[in-house]
Amino acid sequence: MSANDTIDRQAEITTDTFTEFGLRPEILKGIEEAGFRAPSPIQKLAIPEILTGKDVIAQAQTGTGKTAAFGLPAMNMTQQTGDVEVLIIVPTRELASQVSDELYRLGRFAGIRTVAVYGGQSIRRQVELIGRGAQVVTATPGRLLDHLRSKRLTLNPSIVVLDEADEMLDMGFLDDIEEIFKYLPEQRQTLMFSATLPDAIRHLGAKILTDPVSIDITPKEVTTNTDIVQRYYVLEEREREEALVRLIDTEAPNKSLIFCRTKKETDSLSTTLISRGYAASSLHGDMQQRQRDEAIDSFKKGRIDLLVATDVAARGLDISDVTHVFNYHMPFDPDSYVHRIGRTGRAGKKGIAITLVTPLEFKKLRRIVKSAGAPISHEEIPTLDEAERQYRDELIDKLERQHIHDGAADLLQQLEEDLDLPQIAYKAISMLLDRAPVQGPDRIGFNAREVERMMNRFKRRKNYKGRPPKPRLRRRN
Ligand code: ADP
Ligand code: MG
Repeated sequence: MSANDTIDRQAEITTDTFTEFGLRPEILKGIEEAGFRAPSPIQKLAIPEILTGKDVIAQAQTGTGKTAAFGLPAMNMTQQTGDVEVLIIVPTRELASQVSDELYRLGRFAGIRTVAVYGGQSIRRQVELIGRGAQVVTATPGRLLDHLRSKRLTLNPSIVVLDEADEMLDMGFLDDIEEIFKYLPEQRQTLMFSATLPDAIRHLGAKILTDPVSIDITPKEVTTNTDIVQRYYVLEEREREEALVRLIDTEAPNKSLIFCRTKKETDSLSTTLISRGYAASSLHGDMQQRQRDEAIDSFKKGRIDLLVATDVAARGLDISDVTHVFNYHMPFDPDSYVHRIGRTGRAGKKGIAITLVTPLEFKKLRRIVKSAGAPISHEEIPTLDEAERQYRDELIDKLERQHIHDGAADLLQQLEEDLDLPQIAYKAISMLLDRAPVQGPDRIGFNAREVERMMNRFKRRKNYKGRPPKPRLRRRN
């Protein structure tokens, strides 16, 4: 079940509203304008606790509404002292602007000003904006620490939030975070939000939280989004690119996120896709902020439909209408898998998560299957014939739905001077077929029988080497 689905269901089965929390009318107006009807589970549990002033450590998956869960009560408690009252620390620049924007949207009727602080942006301007009376600052650890060390900023927030704490750990920000807290007042309310709570995060919690309330809304049904169909395809290492292209052609995705392991791979794959005629872009941490914003914006607006990203850059991004998530390479750990596929199937929509696997990666696959909580089924990559057939069916569909252009009548008349109608039709259709995107080898990857044989060997033998079964019968015909 998706988080947004959870939110929707909540609206259906209970009569809860945001009014029960006793929030200020100006804050309620922001909630209403944002279109939130009922609090999500994490909001229902966290908001009252935070309003009592307690420290909170909360675990909830991506997309469950954590930003409002800490943002609403925090903003509700601001007193317009003229200083920064709420400090939110997030792992990436994207999240800094996303969280800052969301809180602005929710808090603007209460006169809340928000500023995002991250690297690659003018330091002077950030300090200036904060000086003009922002109550809420959302910052990445690196830049924040710069400001604090250099004494350009002295912060006295009464509430400090660590958002996506596990991600900050993964990105190696743990030391920075500990140092940041040395500059912060001891008298404060501290809130920690994370999708997972590994030991290192619990240890950090023990250091920075006082007598915290624990909230956990990650039972199986929340981590497992049944709106997401999960499939994997088994292939050889060298077949990855062709497999991806074939699947894109046959799946006809609306918007797809394609996950790679490294920034370099992200760049080279998106370049390849572009050169093969797809509207793609990469998204990773080495890109300039402007380029990243541009990529995300193009993707949101549909100018490009393939976004090739690293885990970190895509983490927490809230993009609607992502129909497909492709794991070009499997993620390093099962948690990332859950995060990645959670980018689709949002707001009750159906999503498809596709993972490319080589026989050498069966062990990793097994770990992911275990933690995915929902079935991940093996499928065969369509052959060239199948792909072409699928493409033709779609073409027929599209032709049937195609609206008739204003200029069509004139052009047809002109064409009919030299050609008769069937000829015109044949030629027009040929033009479409010439653009047929279906390319590549006839067969890609292993078939069901081969995969079954390899899986069996994998299960039986400890020293399974991931060698494909011989002979590859299907390649012979
Ligand atoms: P998380 O931080 O847990 O990943 P977000 O705070 O980014 O989740 O929220 C995900 C999406 O859900 C956002 O688009 C947000 O505006 C929306 N949202 C949050 N709370 C609600 C709610 N109570 N009702 C409807 N939509 C909500
Ligand atoms: Mg979030």
